[in-house]
Amino acid sequence: MTTTLTAKKTPITVAYGDGIGPEIMDATLRIITAAGARLDIEKIEIGESVYNRGLSNGIEDSSWESLRRTKVFLKAPITTPQGGGFKSLNVTVRKTLGMYANVRPCASLAPYVATKHPNMNLIIVRENEEDVYGGIEHRQTNQVTQCLKLISRPGSERIVRYAFEYARANRRKKVTCFTKDNIMKITDGLFHKIFDEIAKEYPDIENEHWIVDIGAAKMADTPEAFDVLVMPNLYGDVLSDVAAQITGSVGLAGSANIGDHCSMFEAIHGSAPRRAGQNMANPSGLLHGALLMLSHIGQGEIAEKVHNAWLKTIEDGVHTYDIYKDGVSKQKVGTKEFGDAVIARLGQKPEKLPAAEYAKGGQMDISARASGAAAKKEHVGVDIFIDRPSGEPDEIASALRGFTVPGTKLTVISNRGTKVWPNGNPDTFWSDHWSCRFEADGGTFNTGHVVQLIEAVTNAGFEVVKTEGLYTFDGARGFSLAQGQ
Ligand code: NAD
Repeated sequence: MTTTLTAKKTPITVAYGDGIGPEIMDATLRIITAAGARLDIEKIEIGESVYNRGLSNGIEDSSWESLRRTKVFLKAPITTPQGGGFKSLNVTVRKTLGMYANVRPCASLAPYVATKHPNMNLIIVRENEEDVYGGIEHRQTNQVTQCLKLISRPGSERIVRYAFEYARANRRKKVTCFTKDNIMKITDGLFHKIFDEIAKEYPDIENEHWIVDIGAAKMADTPEAFDVLVMPNLYGDVLSDVAAQITGSVGLAGSANIGDHCSMFEAIHGSAPRRAGQNMANPSGLLHGALLMLSHIGQGEIAEKVHNAWLKTIEDGVHTYDIYKDGVSKQKVGTKEFGDAVIARLGQKPEKLPAAEYAKGGQMDISARASGAAAKKEHVGVDIFIDRPSGEPDEIASALRGFTVPGTKLTVISNRGTKVWPNGNPDTFWSDHWSCRFEADGGTFNTGHVVQLIEAVTNAGFEVVKTEGLYTFDGARGFSLAQGQ
């Protein structure tokens, strides 16, 4: 999707949600409208009232039409009803509308909010759909379970491109990639490779890669060393919570879920039902969601104006109850009065906190690009996984070599990724889940060989629990070697 700055109003869909939702949405919309946001607002109803009408997803069909029409969703928190039978609205919206990027800015506000990291100001861009979150899991033997980790080229390209476009549109200087490609050379290796490829298209932005373990340690210790971070789903899930927590102000954060067709912007907190209807709640989390939205739709100059007025309000000690502190705060205000205070400061910049900077009329081009030409794929073998509760690697190997499937040969047996035959180490521990690799013996390999091998392995008395094809792509190996191979 390409978004450009125009004087035209951008249609957006707004849901006021439950609990404190209506109050914080009202304050948020008043602030951004007063700052000059050019928006054409369509209201939809979501959450408790819709669940109570018997819709298990918490959203009406007509609301989907609005979301597909406007493609931009500013959402207040909702209350998820207790008890079974209800589905998470967030997960439903994210999955249905293919929101592949989760974006969470994490900035500290010291000394107004206590933190060990007063100079922290980073953004985590997390891939939202792939990795182990397909939830494709199997138990294949008594002892061994597995979860499939899927990383695709198009999925990685669009998240990495999003991170660089976000950096450019928001005047960020560096994008850092975290992976574990020293171990997962094929999956995380692809993510890293694509990061390096796309980084070349953005010479104005610094780029770097860290192995996720030491990178996470560095981020927890010295978060000010990072700017924009991009990473696969699981690392992003864990580290975006770590980053939000160490700012000291989880309650003030917003987040965006970005898709090719539709994007959703919200606070990270919930509907705080106990605070509802009392003009107490802090609208800052949702306001930050709205800032991400304004940047996304090309109204970065409005986002900058609002962000700086908000920083000045915090700096002036005008605080809602949740961050009010004697000696630091000057005035305890309600939701509405906080909104008024931000509006009164539009056009001002903070004096002590660093001012926010967004690209004016920023244009983010996150349109899908054609992936590189398809590589030549050749079938070169198969891993046949067997369930064998007892037995020694050498016994299994001799049984598997007791038959012949012409054109194939047994090359290695591994257990949980470690080679146990030939020449296994007697100290290696093994479970009941064995991978037996058969490769072409000189000539070519095909699916017919796989079928004959499954039959022969079964006839030799083994239980086949799965197979994985072995392929090369333009001659490069598309499968891992066992440890010790
Ligand atoms: P919560 O985030 O609503 O509240 C946690 C604590 O933070 C409470 O003490 C609350 O008073 C306070 N708080 C939260 N937001 C605040 C704000 N803006 N200003 C001042 N104080 C604030 O979490 P919860 O109590 O676990 O959940 C309440 C409901 O929200 C549940 O039904 C939950 O399912 C739902 N929820 C919705 C979303 C969403 O819509 N995205 C996210 C999380 C939770």
